[in-house]
Amino acid sequence: MSQEKSCVFCERTSDQVPLIGLEFRGTTLAICPQHMPVLIHDPGQLVGKMPGAENLSPADHKD
Ligand SMILES: [Zn+2]
Repeated sequence: MSQEKSCVFCERTSDQVPLIGLEFRGTTLAICPQHMPVLIHDPGQLVGKMPGAENLSPADHKD
């Protein structure tokens, strides 16, 4: 069973883009540099892609 890491957002693998490893809820995930800002500023976009993303808060509060 292959467990190749891929970006949680775009699902590209390290064959295609550099991946940054994330440890979250005891699981190792990966994200590419292009989508790192999504994780930081708009994690709501990761709901459904990353388990538990609905509990993340954006770093910037725009309200
Ligand atoms: Zn990506």
